Amino acid sequence: MRSPFLGLVQASIAFVALAALTGLHDAAAQDGAAPARPATAQASVSYQEWFTDEAMRIDLFHAGATLDDAYSLDEVVWEPVWPGTRVHLIDPFKFGSYRFRVRDAASGKELFSQGYATLFDEWTGTDEAKAGVRRSMSESVRFPWPRKPVLVQIDRRDKKTGVFQQMYELVVDPASHQISRARPFSSFEVVDLNAGPAPEKAMDVLIVAEGYSPDDRAKLRADLKRFAGLFLDYEPWKSNRERIHIRGIEALSLESGVSEPRKGLFRDSILGSSFNTFDSERYLTVMHTKRLRQIASLAPYDTLFVMANSGRYGGGGVYNQWSVFVSDNEYDDYVMLHEFGHHMGGLADEYYDSAISNDEDLMYPPGVEPWEPNISAFLGKSRHAIKWKDLILASTSIPSAEQSAPEDQVGLFEGAGYKAKGLFRPQKDCKMFHKGLVGFCKVCSRSLVSMLHYYTGEEVKP
Ligand SMILES: [Zn+2]
Ligand SMILES: [Zn+2]
Repeated sequence: MRSPFLGLVQASIAFVALAALTGLHDAAAQDGAAPARPATAQASVSYQEWFTDEAMRIDLFHAGATLDDAYSLDEVVWEPVWPGTRVHLIDPFKFGSYRFRVRDAASGKELFSQGYATLFDEWTGTDEAKAGVRRSMSESVRFPWPRKPVLVQIDRRDKKTGVFQQMYELVVDPASHQISRARPFSSFEVVDLNAGPAPEKAMDVLIVAEGYSPDDRAKLRADLKRFAGLFLDYEPWKSNRERIHIRGIEALSLESGVSEPRKGLFRDSILGSSFNTFDSERYLTVMHTKRLRQIASLAPYDTLFVMANSGRYGGGGVYNQWSVFVSDNEYDDYVMLHEFGHHMGGLADEYYDSAISNDEDLMYPPGVEPWEPNISAFLGKSRHAIKWKDLILASTSIPSAEQSAPEDQVGLFEGAGYKAKGLFRPQKDCKMFHKGLVGFCKVCSRSLVSMLHYYTGEEVKP
């Protein structure tokens, strides 16, 4: 199975044999939106037996068109520290439009898994994609460094059934000399913004500066401090600040600011961030995601902020990938926290009153329960089938009437996920809805705290 030269082989042939031995396809078929297995059943994977303290990153190209996407390998990279969970090795949440799984190549035993979402998936719902344009974007998956050869599989969630289907596989031998140990961008300074426990016990938050030229260095340092402080002053982080380690990377760009194509402004910023993603006025995303991963690897991180040096309103956040906020807008605090909700918690937008650039029906097909923890299609038509049912009082009407409900009441309010009809949110208002002073609703808060416990190794309630 191992190539003597590369140590990295596409596993299509090996996989057939593995599948026959271990019944891998059966396991995949059981994993829909709802957890098929209790998280505790995974205690059989011993971290120390299978993994070291280091991390493996696989950089990939994600390319194709609507309903026709594929992955190909860019490179496999060594990172010095695995900062993530050593307890919840098999993803207890099952969120995400994609997920990857790491198996022992010899036995097929599942050792690690994690769900994620992609900007590529969002792009496939745009008019550009539907017109037949094909594109590629770079993405990475990261997991603890395996002691033995592993099979890495990527599964895509079928939009119509909500069930994961395998789409890519690769065998990686950790002994291969082809795995990159280069440390690019290591001249950038890493600063501590809030000391916390050791990486495996903390949620490690990393803020990477973007669009700051060498002349902006004083502002960069002040902005890092300001946003770290702002984050820690906000619930649910405020009551958990001793669990959170925040670091910043003083990444420098040749030019100040980020690109705004609609205004004809293009900047040579280190991460190539740009407004007008998918031609949406306010959608600010990172183009050089591989470079972001290279820079981020200079510090331990579970969650990733990109702090863009701009006064314009905009941002973006993708589950288990990255989140971007702007440094100098009157709503910059809202953008930071809201986008982090997408990125860290897999939370959906609860608003339905402003247009987006992709097809809402492709994002949330009618008749399919969204995987996000904070919106529901209410397909069970029963209060007992609602994801957040335990937070709903027996006296609350379902669906809930907006006019009469108190602000802090959890119910089932129609209008969410860009749709006024057919999708529901838990509370009248939330940080995932409006850009006012409102906090995260009770369902979003609980979900974020559960994700925090995933990173700190405490008990989680998916
Ligand atoms: Zn949003
Ligand atoms: Zn919410």
